Amino acid sequence: MGKTEKASFDSSEAQNIKKKQLLGELRKILPVQRILYSESEMRPYECDGLSVYTNLPLAVAIPDTLKELKSILAVCRKYDVPVVCRGAGTGLSGGALPLSNGLLISMARFNQILEIDPENRTARLQPGVRNLTVSQAAAQYNLYYAPDPSSQIACTIGGNIAENAGGVHCLKYGLTVNNLLQVKVLTMEGEIITAGGTGFDSPGYDLRALFTGSEGMLGIIVEALVKLLPVPESARVLLASFDDIKQAGDAVAEIIASGILPAGLEMMDELAVQAAEEFAHPNYPSDAKAVILCEVDGCEEETASDIEKAKQIFLRSGAKNVRLAADEEERTRMWAGRKGAFPAVGRISPDYYCMDGTIPRKKLGSMLESISEMSGRYGLRVANVFHAGDGNLHPLILYDSNSPDELKKAERFGADILELSVALGGSVSGEHGVGMEKLDQMCYQFANPELETFHEIKKALDPPGLLNPGKAVPLLSRCSELGGMHVHEGNLPHPDLERF
Ligand SMILES: Cc1cc2nc3c(=O)[nH]c(=O)nc-3n(C[C@H](O)[C@H](O)[C@H](O)COP(=O)(O)OP(=O)(O)OC[C@H]3O[C@@H](n4cnc5c(N)ncnc54)[C@H](O)[C@@H]3O)c2cc1C
Repeated sequence: MGKTEKASFDSSEAQNIKKKQLLGELRKILPVQRILYSESEMRPYECDGLSVYTNLPLAVAIPDTLKELKSILAVCRKYDVPVVCRGAGTGLSGGALPLSNGLLISMARFNQILEIDPENRTARLQPGVRNLTVSQAAAQYNLYYAPDPSSQIACTIGGNIAENAGGVHCLKYGLTVNNLLQVKVLTMEGEIITAGGTGFDSPGYDLRALFTGSEGMLGIIVEALVKLLPVPESARVLLASFDDIKQAGDAVAEIIASGILPAGLEMMDELAVQAAEEFAHPNYPSDAKAVILCEVDGCEEETASDIEKAKQIFLRSGAKNVRLAADEEERTRMWAGRKGAFPAVGRISPDYYCMDGTIPRKKLGSMLESISEMSGRYGLRVANVFHAGDGNLHPLILYDSNSPDELKKAERFGADILELSVALGGSVSGEHGVGMEKLDQMCYQFANPELETFHEIKKALDPPGLLNPGKAVPLLSRCSELGGMHVHEGNLPHPDLERF
């Protein structure tokens, strides 16, 4: 047996021993039906929504009490087993991708709404509660939970906090972090940290914000207190269609500059519009090069006046057609098209790769032109779906994983978009997190002092380094391998920068 073969034999033998030890200990904590370890049982957990990366863990554990969860972490510490936490697995950056030497913990059974407090307008939730369920439960008090990712029918509050999820209504009401009052977190060492409070401010460092967006790397979210908002008296949505995508991008910047604060300001390009129309039949004009949905909410008078202002701006910006949803049914249908845009694009291509960068809004129009040029250069189609009001891009790059180099091209194309976003003063993630996907691009966005601080925070909260290791924050050595590519706005010699 050669040296390399022996090494891999040793490591797979060690892995088997570790798996046996782990399973033996897990059986003392959980009933057998809540421990999965055969290949067929674990396949549904092999990836999250970024399905190009797959991996099987040593086992999947499905606890439903804090006591069980604490005991599981104690076993993982004892045997030095890394832990990946999973909510619904809808993440789009590989955050919940299992590690082959690790345990996957599903939080699906922590699914109780512990309290809805209409007087304080809050909801106390377990992390496995689905996002949409919160608004459904609060509706009896005429309240709702504002962050509304398009995946809200499936994704969990724990996953939303870990990714700092956004959604179509985050332009006015903020991301998850702006709607979270308090979070309870179980550390890898088995301590409960309560971060934040019931009021708007709490003394000390803002650990609540630190845990939000921490991608399962600093602690396991076991409880959350979120804000609920009164359902607005009225909400109206305008659909504006354009023959020119740059004009549509510029119209978004005009709306924001005018002082109107829409509840949602979303944009789709021609391909996304056509796919959404075929999938959800929202009655979009399928010959449009771009469609914008602009929703305003508030009291009747305010809504009526903002809608009129927005309509005039769209017409001045070159809109071919502006249509107001006649009633609640049409409004819901218009949003159903936008919210179903990802699965709709999934029907017109064997695979798609969803990017998630942000750019300053005034650069939206030019960015769209750049993406279109890149699409020609790479020979891959792109459907653009944007949280346009937030400057949050979601170009969906269409490819076929059966063709060996298309995935590589799609990844390089996606990286180009993110690098250009950083060069324009934006960021590599607007709401989907970094996960496995954008590790290299983090080297573009952050310099060593920032990355070192991230690593120090991880060490302070997870000294054994067992929580979701290898995700979200790149190794400094990887960044130097890439040639110390950190960029500031304007200093990247990017070929596409000229048009901005
Ligand atoms: C069709 C589609 C549309 C989408 N639209 C949006 C959108 O509009 N806006 C948006 O922001 N996102 C969107 N997403 C992405 C995704 O739904 C969100 O990132 C969501 O927050 C993930 O929640 P989840 O429960 O599925 O988490 P998972 O995918 O299971 O996990 C995500 C991350 O959270 C960690 N995690 C999960 N639970 C816990 C916990 N209890 N404690 C600690 N860490 C935990 C995981 O380790 C992982 O790092 C979309 C996804 C799809 C498939």
